[in-house]
Amino acid sequence: MTLARPGQTWGVITGVTATRWKTRAACAGYPDMVFFPTGDTPSRLVERAKTICSTCAVREPCLEYALSTNQVAGIWGGTTEEERRSLRRKWLSTRRRTA
Ligand code: SF4
Repeated sequence: MTLARPGQTWGVITGVTATRWKTRAACAGYPDMVFFPTGDTPSRLVERAKTICSTCAVREPCLEYALSTNQVAGIWGGTTEEERRSLRRKWLSTRRRTA
């Protein structure tokens, strides 16, 4: 998966707005509990969400949106909250270096 360069957004690259990519989300129609697990959510549900993300046509813009808007809860772009925290640190670090 290739994210847009820092300071650049997937939407700018492709001309697709955040609203438009969401209309193609593979998670549309699933209950919130699948993509917004809580502490006592069984890990199999988290894995189920990540599996759905792995087939999603808009995984990249979804993850980029989550990183750029600091979505701290839920599964976005196939990443958990913890995975995204690590990715976001790297993403911000790169962004600061190139600013
Ligand atoms: S990548 Fe996952 S969370 Fe994002 S839109 Fe697709 S299915 Fe939904």
